[in-house]
Order: sequence, then C-alpha cells, then structure tokens
Amino acid sequence: KLYNKVQDLKGNIRVYCRIRPFLPGQNEKQTTIEYIGENGELVVFNPLKPGKDSRRLFKFNKVFAPTASQEEVFIDTQPLIRSVLDGYDVCIFAYGQTGSGKTYTMTGPDMASKEDWGVNYRALHDLFQISQNRRSSIMYEIGVQMVEIYNEQVRDLLTCDGSQKRLGIWSTTQPNGLAVPDASMHPVRSTNDVLELMNVGFMNRAVGATALNERSSRSHSILTVHVRGTELKSNSVLRGCLHLVDLAGSERVDRSEATGDRLREAQHINRSLSALGDVIFALAQKNPHVPYRNSKLTQVLQSSLGGQAKTLMFVQLNPDVESYSETASTLKFAERVS
Ligand code: ADP
Ligand code: MG
Repeated sequence: KLYNKVQDLKGNIRVYCRIRPFLPGQNEKQTTIEYIGENGELVVFNPLKPGKDSRRLFKFNKVFAPTASQEEVFIDTQPLIRSVLDGYDVCIFAYGQTGSGKTYTMTGPDMASKEDWGVNYRALHDLFQISQNRRSSIMYEIGVQMVEIYNEQVRDLLTCDGSQKRLGIWSTTQPNGLAVPDASMHPVRSTNDVLELMNVGFMNRAVGATALNERSSRSHSILTVHVRGTELKSNSVLRGCLHLVDLAGSERVDRSEATGDRLREAQHINRSLSALGDVIFALAQKNPHVPYRNSKLTQVLQSSLGGQAKTLMFVQLNPDVESYSETASTLKFAERVS
C-alpha cells in the first residue's frame, strides 16, 4: 500500500486545533492561550475566573500554533486527502467564530500567493500531481461542485447565471454517489482550472448580500471534489469524494439584539451546527443511530461522515482575551466530538 499513513490514523474522526495569530494592532500580551504542547495539548486561561481554576487543559490530535504555516498544516492533512484516491470519502471542515481563521485555513487570504494557499487548493494540486505521476495503470478523472447552504437552502455557486435556484438533496445511496446531483459538476485538470472556478464561486456567494464578508460568515460553503479512478486493465472503477467545508461563524447572536432576518439566520446556523455536532458525537460514541436528517448540512455531507469515511475538524481559535467566551464555546463543541 502506498499510503500506509492513513491506516495509522486511529479512528475515523480527528480534531486539529489552529490558533490564529494576533492581527496588526492587537495587544499580544492579552491572550487566553497559555501553553501549546507538542502532542496536541492546549492550556487556555480564563480571564474572568482568577485563581487556580482559571486554567483548563484540552487535548487534540494536533494543535497548530499561530506561527504554523499553511504548508505545515497541509502536511498533516495530506494523508487523509490522498486516501480519496483509494476510494475513501473524506470530509474536512473548519469550525469557529467569525474572524478565527476558517477561510484562511480552508482557502487562504484574499489573492493568496502559492505559499498562502489553504487546504483546498493544496489538496487539489496534490491530487492532480499524484494522479498524473504515480499511477499510470489507473486513469483518474476529477470533478468539482461548490454549493452554499444559507437559511437551510442549498444553492449552486458554480453556475454562470448566478442562479438562485434551490437545489434538492438526494439520499446518498444513489449509484453515482452525488448528494446534490443538480449542482453543476465541473471537470478539472489543473490547479488553474480550480482557481478560476473558485473565483466564480466567491463572486456568486456575494450575490444578494450587502457585504461579502457578512454573507460568507452566515452561510456554509462546501467544495466537493469527486475522484473517479478507472483501472485500465480491468476497467473497474473506484470512486472517492472529498468535502471541504468552510462553516458559518459559530458565534452566539444576542437574542435581545437580533431581529427579523438576522435572527432567522442565526437560528438556522445554530441549528445546523448543533446538528453537525450531534452527528459527529453519535459517530464518536459509535451510536447506531446517527441523526443525519436534522439539517441540510449533515444531509449533504452524509456520505463523508461515518461508515468508512474519514473526518477532520479544524477547531479555529482567536487568541485574544475579548474572544474568551466564544473560544470557550468553540472548545466545548470540540470536546464533545473528540
Ligand atoms: P473566518 O473565515 O473564520 O471568519 P478569516 O479566515 O477571514 O476568518 O480570518 C480573519 C482574519 O485573520 C483575516 O484577515 C485572515 O487573513 C487573518 N488570519 C486568519 N488566520 C491567519 C493565519 N493563520 N495567519 C495569518 N493571518 C490569519
Ligand atoms: Mg470566512
């Protein structure tokens, strides 16, 4: 086997924590992050609770310090991504409050140069390279879909007409394995193809929103990479699928302040994030009943959550003291599923 590393992974759910660096102008002394261990330990300091109870230890499969580069993060993600070529379904998502670095981890900053590329570009780049160079006996075809889930409605982000059409979700037992068969599928052969498509996706995400950042923090975006490998001798076909998910911001919205559309959005986000938490919790507990049907998010991701599928969650944290209560609630979510 070429990719033994994947088999070394214990269980099918991994949780990585990544701490965003301080942004220019923030006071670095005001941090809640006390200690980051080599083996996934994280000690967080609660500024509201002085004394010996103010420190708590968390344990992850890995913690990335604010200094970690995009490449370092990718290296620890690569074995999982490569298992898609062996026919596995993989789901990688980023969870955290708005501004904690979810988009940075998954995509990279705006106009990213190659070193700044996030997991999604690197993943596709890697899949192209591996599929072209290493396995001449298998022909790989790679296609991508990109959808957004906003207020429990699924929308194609890769149609040229900026279509607002709502898409249905099929049960994932369909022979072609597509959860959202009506979302356009785009064959891709190079990282450039992907960069162009993602630009279309980002433009479409802005449609109807007053500000791009506003909307993108309140919807889930899912880039799905479908890999189909045909063994040339036997003509047998192997399929794998990779979901790369930039979740809506997990921050709690003050009920007394939010009204109308904003409150509705917040309720949809809360519900879908808890549904995701419930699914992963059920899987971690090896519970025979997994409640996939409670949200559009978990329905779309169903094939890549549970069973033989491999799941990786990036828990994104802001290091500053003002973010402490959101940091605590993010860590609570992570604790439940890990
Ligand atoms: P989110 O998607 O969770 O709302 P962003 O990814 O947009 O958060 O990150 C918020 C800001 O912090 C952005 O300006 C982003 O470029 C910056 N940022 C996030 N993570 C990092 C990092 N690891 N290194 C440098 N800058 C980062
Ligand atoms: Mg974002």
